[in-house]
This record gives sequence, C-alpha cells and structure tokens, in this order.
Amino acid sequence: MTQKRFDLAVVGAGLNGSLLALAAGEAGLDTALIDRVPLASLTEAGFDGRTTAIAYTSQRLFKAVGVWDELAPRAEPILDIRISDAGHDGRASPLFLHFDHREAAEDEDAAAPMGWIVENRFLRAALLRRLQACANVELVAPDEALDTARSPDKVEITLKSGRRLAARLVASAEGRFGTMREDAGIGARAWSYGQIAIVLVARHDRPHRGVAQEKFLPGGPFAILPMQDSEPTDGKGAEHRSSIVWTERASIARRLLELDAPRFQAEFARRFGDFLGHVEPVGPRWWFPLGLVHAERYIDERMVLVGDAAHGIHPIAGQGYNLGVRDIAALVEVLIDAKRLGLDIGAADTLERYARWRRADNLTMVAATDLLNRLFSNDIKPLRLVRDVGLAAVNRVPPLRKFFVRHAMGLVGDLPKLIRGERP
Ligand SMILES: Cc1cc2nc3c(=O)[nH]c(=O)nc-3n(C[C@H](O)[C@H](O)[C@H](O)COP(=O)(O)OP(=O)(O)OC[C@H]3O[C@@H](n4cnc5c(N)ncnc54)[C@H](O)[C@@H]3O)c2cc1C
Repeated sequence: MTQKRFDLAVVGAGLNGSLLALAAGEAGLDTALIDRVPLASLTEAGFDGRTTAIAYTSQRLFKAVGVWDELAPRAEPILDIRISDAGHDGRASPLFLHFDHREAAEDEDAAAPMGWIVENRFLRAALLRRLQACANVELVAPDEALDTARSPDKVEITLKSGRRLAARLVASAEGRFGTMREDAGIGARAWSYGQIAIVLVARHDRPHRGVAQEKFLPGGPFAILPMQDSEPTDGKGAEHRSSIVWTERASIARRLLELDAPRFQAEFARRFGDFLGHVEPVGPRWWFPLGLVHAERYIDERMVLVGDAAHGIHPIAGQGYNLGVRDIAALVEVLIDAKRLGLDIGAADTLERYARWRRADNLTMVAATDLLNRLFSNDIKPLRLVRDVGLAAVNRVPPLRKFFVRHAMGLVGDLPKLIRGERP
C-alpha cells in the first residue's frame, strides 16, 4: 500500500501551528497538525492564563479564515494606548505618550480599533473548533515528532506512537524550545533578559474604557490591558477587568510570587496606581521567564520555521504572536502560488520567497523590542530624563504618532493577501 503524502506537516499546535494548519487547510493544502499534548487540554482555563493583543491586521486574517465570528464577542477593542515612565513608587511621570486609534485612520480602516485583547483560551478554542471542521486537516495529537528525515523529494516524520508520516514540507511551529531548528543545524541569536513576566487578571472599580496602559517601572514594563467582561459576577458591569503583564527582575519576581494574598495585593496596587479606583488581582498568578531567540535562517531543505520557533521576542510591545500571524499569511500565500503553478511547494525557491518576505519585518521587531526593554527597564537618572523627554516629544508630533500607531496595527510594509483580509 502506498503511504499517504501530505502537502504540509505542522509540528506544534500552539497559537502559531494551529493557525498555520487552519490557513493552509482552508486554502486547499492537505495538512497534518501534530502536538504532543491532547488538543482539548490547550483550551482549558488552567493551561494558559494570558491574553493576546491581536493587531488590527491580524484580526483581518482571523476573519478571512473564519475564526473571528466566534472571537468577536470575547474581544475587547483597544481604542487608546497610554505609555508613561514611572519610579519605584509606581507614580507615573507627567511626561507621557498617548495614541488614539482615530489617528491611524485612512479610508477603509477609518477609526478601526488598534487591536483587540482576547484571552488565549478563547483563541485556542476558536482555532480548534475550526480545525475540527476543516476537511483538509488531520489532527495528530497527542503524539510527538521524534525524528525528521528530509530528502530531495519528501519529508518523513517518525512519531512517538510509531506512525511515520510523509509530507512535501514540514513546518516547525514548536515554539522557542523546539528541537527541529537545532537538529537542522540552524543557529540562533538567543539570550535571557533575566526578567520574569507575572501575568494575572485584575478587577478595578472604574471602567477601563478600552485604554491600554504601559508603565515603565525600573524592573520592567507593567502593562494594563483592557479585557472584555462577558460574565460580570460582582454587579459592576463591563470594562472592569484588565489583564496584567507585570515584568520584574527574575529574583524579585520569584519573591513576589511567593507572597501571601494581602502582601501581594499591596505590592500590586502600589505599581498599578489608583487611576481606576480600588484594584485587586483575581484568580491565579502565572509567570513566564523572558528571553529572545532569533533563528539565523527560517528555512532548510523541505523545512520552514514559523512563529516563536523562528523568533521569540520580549512581550513589551505585545507583538510576538502578530509577527507569527504575518509569517503564516506569507507562507500560505507562497505555497498556494506554487501549487497553482503546478510547482513543488517544498522546493528551495518557494521557501526562499517566504524567508525573504519575512526577514526584515521580524528583524525590525526583534531589534525594537530588545532596545525598548534595555532603554526602559532601569532607573538610571540621565537615561530616564532622555526617554521621558523622548516620549513627550513624540506625543507632540502627530505624523510620528500616526507612524507608530500604523506600525502597531500591522499596516506597514508589503502585506500578504490574508493580512489584507483576502483569500490567498
Ligand atoms: C507574558 C506574555 C505575553 C504575551 N503577549 C502577547 C501579546 O499581547 N500579543 C502578541 O502578539 N504576542 C504576545 N506574546 C507572544 C505569544 O504568546 C507567542 O508568540 C506565542 O504564544 C507563541 O506560540 P507558538 O505556537 O509559536 O509556540 P508555543 O506556544 O510554544 O507552542 C508550541 C507547541 O508545539 C508543541 N511541540 C513542540 N515540539 C513538539 C514536538 N516535537 N512534537 C509535537 N509537539 C511539539 C508544544 O507542545 C506546544 O503546544 C506574549 C508572550 C508572553 C510570554
């Protein structure tokens, strides 16, 4: 019996791998999606307590692949972003930078939100439901890719279950701790920031009104991200929950995480401030060590890297996943173009087109987030003065503000069709 050969095998069903398999399947590629974890467990509340800031253009892709309708009622629009510097006491500097979504408006995207905050568990669940309904995708989980043999005409993946799976192309969406990159001899620039992001949900007395806040504290950025309050339990109504990404030096973060509830509350409230009235954490505390990894190359023989397997960045700008979404849009477009022309989708020149398309955008964001974190995560007085004056200066120049807002929305550069909301 001849073995079935998939067009594409995606290893890793995190946010990137799931979206890649769905976009590829919807575009007509015969796709296998492999993860070592049972897929339903990825959607449980206890698996991932984070939210994701979905940029305006990423949302257009979600619409195009049919997941946005389910997500929309769970997504909180980001209308404004306010960035300020703050000292050890958590008090914000009077010099700040304010972005308003209306500033980016240009005809068809007139006054669209800059993005949306969505809980990762809802994102994962919406993706899984669409994947289960997509006839071109086979879900292979729980199972683990143990070995990948690549030859000039195919890839063969040996799974832990003993199954061997053949494809024209394999995509590593294994995240930053994957092994396929190194096994293929692809090096990477990688370092730890010595910081940990504490993630939690906070409830506050006053509504957030769709404003995302980023306060630069000496230990790192403290982000307050407006959440949808679809099931208010305390009679306060909507707009009273925010997702917090609180970055601290690792040694301090570990001590904070061990504090009992009243002492943790005191440390938290001091940093948050009182601009939304009384505030307190609700639910569990999560933590994520922060680092950077950027692969030297995104491709090898019949193999591509996407998402965090190619570039894992600091969450300071909420852009890590949005880069992956743009990888996926570009990759699916080059694969479909090749298939339409009757070419081999795993051929080197097809893959090179993907790598060339994504390199500059990814590199820019890798460098920008690294620089921002180094510039702001400290309390060096002259540097503080320079960055405060810098924030206030950008705040006074509308074209500069518009430039930054359009970047955050993902509206800059050579945009793949899916990112424009079109089918590839
Ligand atoms: C605190 C924090 C906040 C963030 N906020 C934002 C934000 O607001 N906006 C934004 O754009 N980004 C944000 N990010 C970044 C975003 O979360 C990541 O970019 C994204 O989750 C990476 O997803 P991934 O699918 O590439 O990798 P992962 O989530 O690591 O998934 C990899 C998957 O591969 C599987 N796997 C690995 N190897 C194998 C194998 N050999 N066989 C089978 N399965 C395998 C694993 O089980 C796993 O499920 C944030 C990150 C952090 C840490």
